[in-house]
Amino acid sequence: MKKPRTIRGVALILLLLVLLPLLVFTVYEISGLSGSESFVTDIYRRQLDIVLFSINQFAWDVANTWAGAVENGWKPAEAGGSFSPVFAREFLGKNQAIDAVFTADSTGTEITFMAGRGADEKPAHVRLALLLAGERPLIDRLLMLSSRNYRKIESRTFPDSSGPGGGVVLLFVMRDIRGIPVLAGIRLHQERFVREVLGERMREAAAGEFVISVFRTSNGDRVFASEEGPGADPEQRRQLWLFPDLAVGIRLKGETIQQVARSRVSRDIMILVVLDAVLLSGVWVVFRSVRREMEFVRLKSDFVSNVSHDLRTPLALIRMYAETLELGRLVGEEKKQEYYSTIVRETERLSRLVNNLLNFSRMEAGRRPYTFLPLDLNAVVRGVLDSFSPHLGSEGFSPIVDLDSAIPAVRADMEAVQEALINILDNAVKYSGGEKYLRVATGIRMDDVYVEIEDHGPGIPPEYRERVFETFFRVPSSKTSGAKGSGLGLAIARHIMEAHGGRIDLSSTPGRGSTFTLAFRYEHNTHH
Ligand code: ADP
Repeated sequence: MKKPRTIRGVALILLLLVLLPLLVFTVYEISGLSGSESFVTDIYRRQLDIVLFSINQFAWDVANTWAGAVENGWKPAEAGGSFSPVFAREFLGKNQAIDAVFTADSTGTEITFMAGRGADEKPAHVRLALLLAGERPLIDRLLMLSSRNYRKIESRTFPDSSGPGGGVVLLFVMRDIRGIPVLAGIRLHQERFVREVLGERMREAAAGEFVISVFRTSNGDRVFASEEGPGADPEQRRQLWLFPDLAVGIRLKGETIQQVARSRVSRDIMILVVLDAVLLSGVWVVFRSVRREMEFVRLKSDFVSNVSHDLRTPLALIRMYAETLELGRLVGEEKKQEYYSTIVRETERLSRLVNNLLNFSRMEAGRRPYTFLPLDLNAVVRGVLDSFSPHLGSEGFSPIVDLDSAIPAVRADMEAVQEALINILDNAVKYSGGEKYLRVATGIRMDDVYVEIEDHGPGIPPEYRERVFETFFRVPSSKTSGAKGSGLGLAIARHIMEAHGGRIDLSSTPGRGSTFTLAFRYEHNTHH
């Protein structure tokens, strides 16, 4: 009753200390993971946004630089109020994305100067004037900002001959050297701008990791992509500040953000599962070793009480019989003889026990010396049976001895083999109960020379067939049958057989008996 409660206590403590926190942690982590998925997604989106922002900023900077160049190239009114032809040619030559550069009077009603490329310059002239006429409020605002020393650039779509949304006009107010405001404009070919000015920049920003593309917002056409191939939908898009009809989009190459986030989450779950498994198996190992340790402690305390009992019983008998003899009260030689042999028998039992204890402790420490000599197993068996016969006889056993005279000699330590045999014979006698059957045989089987001891006792249940060889272990039910023991006999026998490079085997049918076999490898032995 005591043991199961204690082991259950250990299990409970482990459960409370490790498994419960583990469970809570796991549940908490897993419930947090869905949040972390959207968190990761957010971070990625923000990163993509930054890339888009930098592209927009770049386009803007380019426009500003151009506006600056135009302002510097402008001559004051008394010098003609125009660009030098050299400047205009160079400016347009250097910047292929620019279709034309022009100035208009401050009301925007008259184009005062225009340098451009291409054949459609005349009609463009007219359309430009039309556009400006419709933008009076804008022009006023630009003039006002310019008077406060701020050169703002505004862009307006300018459908040209290449189709709707093909161009853009950047309008700004500049000042000539004497500070007189002049309305100026740069006409851009937006697709050329995207390809030639932004293209390099976008490829750089994509860095092989993203695909950046530019779309027309009016019809969704793709004007540019940092990479060839079918254009999956961008995950993030932004209006291009300079071009009212264009948007720049970005997505991860290969995976989508959601896939990335999800694979991260599933990796986290994997790690969690592995962690849990490691912890659980750790707990299991700890639990098992604690259980074994507790079992061992129990066996050990049983052992102490068993050994004490084993010592006390023969001592009490010896003392009682010796005292009776001493008092000389016994009549008849026969009776006396019986007392003497009881004393001898009990003394033998005592020395067997003490021998076992001593040998065992030496064996445990690995300090038992063995002397291996060629040994005739038959002779050893006969000797042991001889010395054991009074004991056997008094217990009502008359053993069947079945020795194979053809067996070869084995290399073995005689005393140790005797000890193993005695332990097994002793068990057969102790545990057989009413079934007084004992058979001892030798023989050869494959590479082994063996000694077999068979009884018709209670047998050993299958679940204990390995454990009976463990130190201190005793089959629980045999205790109720009253036979006392230390649980060392078979452990010692196994030690001995292993030291010989042999085996001890057990076959048993519960209720029918047990057969122990000591097997020596003679082929191996005869080599030496
Ligand atoms: P013990 O000192 O208890 O005999 P052993 O190591 O010799 O210790 O044996 C271990 C246990 O194996 C015994 O307690 C007994 O329960 C069981 N056992 C050993 N031999 C036999 C046998 N011949 N028949 C039935 N049970 C046996």
